[in-house]
Amino acid sequence: MLTMKDVIKEGNLNLHKISKDVPIPLSKKDKSTLLSLHEYVVNSTNEEMQKNYDFRPSVGIAAPQINILKRLTAIHVKDLDGILYSYMLINPVITKKSSELVYLPGGEGCLSVDRKTEGLTPRYKEITLESYAYLSQTDETIKIKLHLSGYVGIIFQHEIDHLNGILYTQKLFSSLPSAKPVFEELISKD
Ligand code: ZN
Repeated sequence: MLTMKDVIKEGNLNLHKISKDVPIPLSKKDKSTLLSLHEYVVNSTNEEMQKNYDFRPSVGIAAPQINILKRLTAIHVKDLDGILYSYMLINPVITKKSSELVYLPGGEGCLSVDRKTEGLTPRYKEITLESYAYLSQTDETIKIKLHLSGYVGIIFQHEIDHLNGILYTQKLFSSLPSAKPVFEELISKD
């Protein structure tokens, strides 16, 4: 089981390297990496697990954050309507993006960044994402295409940035006049 000790932090140069594509079909090792990433994200929102294991709550994590430079990421997040986006992604690519920009009003956070940051991070309001997804229940790897927007789209963009060696701290602005806020206060009610 992954814990916060496995997560590498800002300052580690591996967070700024471009991760490698992962061969399909998935190796046993890559499957187990994906499963442990996903397990961490799911467990991190469980209050008891947070207490017992000092988990920081999260909605996504990417393999480079546990020092594995492969294009693998796990996301587990609900949108404003309560729809769950729970994915183990392999080689995700943004194939389309809107010209409109949005940002999280309170700023973004990251398991690899231990300090409080100030500033806003611009993200595309809408994206189309093409990826392989691993389905653990049937042990299948399928091709998927997702249209994502707003808050959930921001999460996916944050994780894909990790695969390209980019931290949100490299994209902080004191104001973003051409971007719109997504409404964070609605999100935490869940
Ligand atoms: Zn992050």
